[in-house]
Parts: sequence; structure tokens; C-alpha cells
Amino acid sequence: MTNESVPPSASDLFRLHPRRFETNRFVYPVISRRSGGISLGLNLNPDKICNFDCIYCQVDRTRQSETSFVETPALLAELDETLELVASGRLFDQPPFDETPPALRRLNDIAFSGDGEPTTYKNFDEIIAACAEVKRRHGLDDVKMVLITNASMFHRPHVQRGLAILDANAGEIWAKLEAGTDEYYRRVERTPVPFRRVLDNIAAAAQLRPLVIQSLFMRIEGQPPPPEELAAFCDRLNEITAAGGKLKLVQIYTVARPPAESFVAPLTNEEVDAIVRLVEERTGLPAAAYYGAAGV
Ligand code: SF4
Repeated sequence: MTNESVPPSASDLFRLHPRRFETNRFVYPVISRRSGGISLGLNLNPDKICNFDCIYCQVDRTRQSETSFVETPALLAELDETLELVASGRLFDQPPFDETPPALRRLNDIAFSGDGEPTTYKNFDEIIAACAEVKRRHGLDDVKMVLITNASMFHRPHVQRGLAILDANAGEIWAKLEAGTDEYYRRVERTPVPFRRVLDNIAAAAQLRPLVIQSLFMRIEGQPPPPEELAAFCDRLNEITAAGGKLKLVQIYTVARPPAESFVAPLTNEEVDAIVRLVEERTGLPAAAYYGAAGV
């Protein structure tokens, strides 16, 4: 089991997660407890529409967004400028980033993780290629490009092209899997996308490159995930690896910011740790714990 030790001042910053930085509409710097540094988020879903409706979603859909479409030139210009701001260190001259602990004052990754599922963006492969080019121009070949995804669209050819471009540019795919049974999946994700499609997509993508699995577990109406659900979750992971899929890490985390539904609450640190141990014991995969904001 592994976990991150986060100073209190940093955890306050994590919760800010500003969607807008200065006047940016598509690119926002975030202090990432998971990556241990600055993550530049790219929002490919400014309309806030998602093909999932997760009960724990942290996207505020009560307020209408000011921007509905991805404007590629504006997004690339914002990426260019923000990369410069981080690389030069000028980002840390201004609040709230002036409170960033020294150890986290590094650019870790560019993350496609906006207000919806990034792979539903119709020009997904083109935007990945264009962002990789900006990164290359800045000489940041080692900086990761992380795709945070629900894996529902991996079967589409333009998404597969985008994933291949990520592979060639220090890419890493964090695929959401947080259920073991169809029933629990539908309860948590509230989507018409079949669970089987998500499982097949993850298995196929993991056969081509190692994936990171990200799994959020929570209390639903006061109840933590049932033991049999967690056992089934481990069985699904084992099926993916038995089919030749490579999984390099299973991230177990819980609710850290206000969720979509009031009946959702974080697990305690001990409960998160117990799931990490279960995954390690039943699958042999490395797993890591990420705790809730309250640190309960
Ligand atoms: S897939 Fe992500 S953005 Fe979409 S509803 Fe779920 S948590 Fe929210």
C-alpha cells in the first residue's frame, strides 16, 4: 500500500481547483496531490455535458458555463502561455499558487480532465496531436500527458488514434472503473453506456499499453461499498489482466470535494486503506490510496 503525505496548506489548495485561471477558459493549473506537482488541466467539455452522470461528480452543473465549444486556437494559446508561466516559475508569484509547498513546485503533467468526458470531443485525436506539438516546442518531452477518462469511447477509431498519439508523447491513461457488478455500476455512474462496453474497452486498451485504473469509492446513503461488490471489482481487474491487459496502478480514492448528490459522503482513511489492501491481495496489482478532503 502507498499513499501521499500532503501538508495541510497544500490540501486547502487542492480543494480550490480553479477552473479558470486569470482569463483562461480551457487551461487551468491545479496543484495535484495525486501527481505531487502542478497539473495543467485541459477542459475539452466547456459545455459541461457528460455521457455519465456520476452521483459523486464534482462538476458544478447548477451554473451555466460561459463557453460551449472548444475553440482550438484559444485553447492552444492558453496552453502555450500557461506552460511558460509554470516553466518560468512566475505562476508561484501569484495567489493561490504562492502557497504551493516547495516540493510541489514542478510541472508534472498536462491532464485532459475537464467538465465532462474528454473522449467525447469530436476532434479528440487532432487536439491531442496539437497539444503534443505545443509541449514539444517547449522542450517538455518528459512531461506526461494524462487522459482522465471513463473509457466509454475507446472503441471509436478517432479515440484510438488519439490514444496512440498519447502513447508517442509520454501519455498515460487513467481509466475509471469503480464497480464490479452491473447493478452497482448503474447506481454510481447513471449512464446508458453498458458496463460490458467499459470493461471491454479497458481490456482492449490495456493490451496495447499499461493503464492506470482510477476508482472512487464512497458512502452511499451512509453505507460503504459492500464486501461482495469490492470482491467483484477485484474479479473484473483479474479478468482484464488474464486477457493480457497491463495495469500499472490501481488508484483508490474517495470523495474530496462537494459531490453532485447529498447522499454521497467520503470513506474514512482506514476504509480507503482497507480497499487498497484488498486489491493488492486479490489481484497482485500495485494500489495507492487517496483520501477525502476532510481526512476522516
Ligand atoms: S465521468 Fe467524470 S465528469 Fe462525467 S459525470 Fe462522471 S465524474 Fe462527472
